[in-house]
Amino acid sequence: MGKHHILILGGTTEARGLAERLAGRPDIAAVISLAGRTSDPKPLPLPTRIGGFGGMDGLIDYLTKENIDLLVDATHPFANQISANAATAAERAGVSILALRRPGWDAVDGDRWTRVDDMDSAVTALGAQPRRVFLAIGRQEAGLFAAAPQHSYLVRSVDPVDPPLEVTDCRYILASGPFNVAGETKLFADNAIDVIVTKNSGGSATYAKLAAARALGLEVVMVERRKPPGVRAVGTVDAALDLIDQWLSPA
Ligand code: NAP
Repeated sequence: MGKHHILILGGTTEARGLAERLAGRPDIAAVISLAGRTSDPKPLPLPTRIGGFGGMDGLIDYLTKENIDLLVDATHPFANQISANAATAAERAGVSILALRRPGWDAVDGDRWTRVDDMDSAVTALGAQPRRVFLAIGRQEAGLFAAAPQHSYLVRSVDPVDPPLEVTDCRYILASGPFNVAGETKLFADNAIDVIVTKNSGGSATYAKLAAARALGLEVVMVERRKPPGVRAVGTVDAALDLIDQWLSPA
């Protein structure tokens, strides 16, 4: 019997974890797809394609031409466009789809979170008075904070923010997780940060900033997720593997 063809839409720790577990399986031929946002992505243990598909029609073409049987949307919970495209393309191409999406974080006692629906609201939530802001939102939407130039910014991202923020006081750190609480606490204290802006990405690799903010009593402006497309979804690599195995050998 031929192999089952799986396309994983990646760009996350979970996609990497799934790739590691599927690599070498004799019954599966899997490919992982990256958008190409990161200039130097770590190698993955599966054949990797890089770059957009050319919209939803392009993704439908890819699914059809490559005889994909199962599409796994393991993109970041804030990658709304590709997830919407994946849900619709899978339906139109008649391909099974599964979303692997890590759960969001919940506030616990001691947290001072201001929850907002989008990044523009996060900019507004900082208020009129100058503050010292730590931005941990990735580089793509950092430019929106030019609308609040009264604040001082420390921006951390994996790749450089380009063009730089149009504000008078902004510094940049290039780093990728995992981060630890001691390091995050020191970073916030050394830079006299008084508010953190982050997306509710979930996962353990970048949770330390929230624990550090709690310990220091700092406000967190938390950008919440949009409602995801209504496809079957799991939160862990193990659960995704269970479903893939059920799908390969239906009872
Ligand atoms: P997005 O806004 O949802 O997608 C924009 C376009 O990028 C898509 O329409 C698609 O282009 C292309 N694309 C996105 N993910 C792709 C993938 N895995 N393979 C091939 N093409 C992809 O996405 P985004 O928020 O810019 O995220 C881009 C990538 O970075 C994703 O892989 C995501 O998992 C990862 N990431 C995102 C965030 C975040 O906060 N958004 C954080 C960490 C990692 P076409 O329409 O041409 O197909």
